[in-house]
Amino acid sequence: MDPVLEQLKAGVRRFRSDVYAHQADVFAHAASEPQRPHTFFIACADSRIDPNAITSTGPGEVFVMRNIGNMIPAYGEMLGGVSAVVEFAVSALGVRHIVVCGHTDCGAMKALLDPASVDKMPSVRNWLTNAHAARTVAETLHERDLAEGGERPLIDVLTEQNVLLQIQHIKTHPSVAGAIAMGELTISGWIYSIGTGEVRIAEDGERTFAPVTPLPREHESPLRV
Ligand SMILES: [Zn+2]
Repeated sequence: MDPVLEQLKAGVRRFRSDVYAHQADVFAHAASEPQRPHTFFIACADSRIDPNAITSTGPGEVFVMRNIGNMIPAYGEMLGGVSAVVEFAVSALGVRHIVVCGHTDCGAMKALLDPASVDKMPSVRNWLTNAHAARTVAETLHERDLAEGGERPLIDVLTEQNVLLQIQHIKTHPSVAGAIAMGELTISGWIYSIGTGEVRIAEDGERTFAPVTPLPREHESPLRV
């Protein structure tokens, strides 16, 4: 008996009895028509990230692609799985928004700052070249910040710059460039903090990330005290 597989099976049983049983209509509706997700969510493969949980979304709402370091190779550089998923999400599914979501404590960002750590993983090392430009920018910004008395860790700056770089990369894909030109698609960059659950967002064209804050009190129900 494989203990990990048994643990997964127990999870499937709980899903069927506790989750599915109470939302059977939602799942039946999702199965009754082609998927029409509004968002294409690109996240790191890190096991601590859950795009649906972060966004309180359910079946059919978010088309997800995950890989090491939430990266999108620029068009033509590594045509393959990622390019195909981007093309499918935009051209076939017609998503209206793309999220590129980085996160705190990212192993890919750590490896970018310590290339020797991936010496024995040639595929990973090659994949990380998609973020090399972000490292260069981050180091420059970090030095400037330190000179001005700032204390932000380099990895935090790098995590943000990687998200911004990957947004530039995805805009080189013809399907994305076309949809943006038609006013049918927008993009945002996110940083998800694993420890606090906080999400900070750089909306399209911005280079700084602002936290998603609670709505002001006037938006709450007047009956709440
Ligand atoms: Zn990561």
